[in-house]
Amino acid sequence: MTLRLGIGSVLAVAVAFGAAACGTPPTPAASPQTPSTTASDVSLVVANGIVITMDDGGRVLAPGSVAIRDHEIVAVDTPAAIDERYRGRERIDATGQIVMPGLINTHTHAPMVLYRGLADDLALMEWLEKYIFPAEAKTVSPEFVRVGTRLAALEMIRSGTTLFADMYYFEEEVAEAVREAGIRGVLGQTIIQFPAPDAKTPEEGLKRTEAFITRFAGDTLVTPAVAPHSMYTLSQGTLLAARDLALKYDVPLLIHLAETQDEVRIAQERYKRRPVEFLSSIKFWAPRTLAAHGVWVSDDEVALLQAHGVGVSHNPESNMKLASGTAPVPAYLRAGVKLGLGTDGAASNNDLDMFEAMRQAAYLHKLISNDPRVVSAREALTMATMGGARALGLQARLGSLEPGKYADLIVVRADRARQTPMYDPVSHLVYATHGDDVVTTVVHGRVLMRDGVVRTLNEAQVLQDARQAAEQVRKAVQ
Ligand SMILES: [Zn+2]
Repeated sequence: MTLRLGIGSVLAVAVAFGAAACGTPPTPAASPQTPSTTASDVSLVVANGIVITMDDGGRVLAPGSVAIRDHEIVAVDTPAAIDERYRGRERIDATGQIVMPGLINTHTHAPMVLYRGLADDLALMEWLEKYIFPAEAKTVSPEFVRVGTRLAALEMIRSGTTLFADMYYFEEEVAEAVREAGIRGVLGQTIIQFPAPDAKTPEEGLKRTEAFITRFAGDTLVTPAVAPHSMYTLSQGTLLAARDLALKYDVPLLIHLAETQDEVRIAQERYKRRPVEFLSSIKFWAPRTLAAHGVWVSDDEVALLQAHGVGVSHNPESNMKLASGTAPVPAYLRAGVKLGLGTDGAASNNDLDMFEAMRQAAYLHKLISNDPRVVSAREALTMATMGGARALGLQARLGSLEPGKYADLIVVRADRARQTPMYDPVSHLVYATHGDDVVTTVVHGRVLMRDGVVRTLNEAQVLQDARQAAEQVRKAVQ
């Protein structure tokens, strides 16, 4: 995918940008020609870091550099090779730091950051019925969703998440906040059988969804999606209507699946089948379906998910905090199910830090299976990058650092006391790194945060608006 220019055009580009270029010119020893005739102009070079590509070969360059032209990665190579061929209009020196694909959060409800810590340590139904549902009924509005998503985007940019899959109400407001922040989203407008904040009936929800899809179709950062809430909160007819919308517009289909034992009981009572069996029996699966949780899934159901190419979002922190159960992640990995990693909403986690999600995923399955070899650091990191991209059907353009892919990457510092010494950067990313260690975040070639300074959002304003919105939440649950 390397763009090859004739010598004339290289000269023209080099002359045009020569004065402004800040790239380190190659040393004469490395190149017999002067930089102005050999280096072609690119928008960004992230130079001299420990580059973890997450490509199929698991390539790590230590050190390595990444060259980005506009939205795309054009080369990943040694610093000398990149400097010889490319000159970045912006150059980020990542010496001693880790450069890796942006993290992909495959399941969240971004605006729910405004309910963070509202109620903890409760049984699921009490938590939902006493706190979350009343708070949502009284507070969810377009403005609330916009304010919440800005806060979530700020947290994600700061902790290295570049793409998130979302299911909520007023999803068009989520989409607008995503565009403002410059982050990437697979955004599912929620459809649910009972009256929701943005739709009185599921029919209205379906109409809203269709309008949402047509409004954001072809958007650079937003991939619109259909999000039927779950098999137990929707009739069979509505589930199939949601699937049909996903087929009609060729968009992803997002659903909560087999999260709790209660859901399995309801499925058995209503349909005499387990949740995955039931959805398979009605041919629910669309080409790009992502099922969140997949906790109470039998071996046969794992095989069904694999056979139908359904992606699964594993959400270890939410599953542990709500005591929902343990997803059969080793079985998913053995079966080759497309497996991503998610945080779930911040009301049940309580943050959007994907480094913590990776660490908890690894720990949880080692403990449950009595085997420290399951869910290795590399497997956890894969879930949070390429695995998430595959689960969302976006693996052709995202999930790894390779020429031709979109330039979504992060730079992570690795020099703190808790990261010293470093023998294996992959081990450190999963077992010793926190979201706060991310210093630079790039999405679609645009630098959203550099050296800890967020460029796209007014941080103080975002936090102030969120605190103000929390006042409404406090009143709603009094
Ligand atoms: Zn959820």
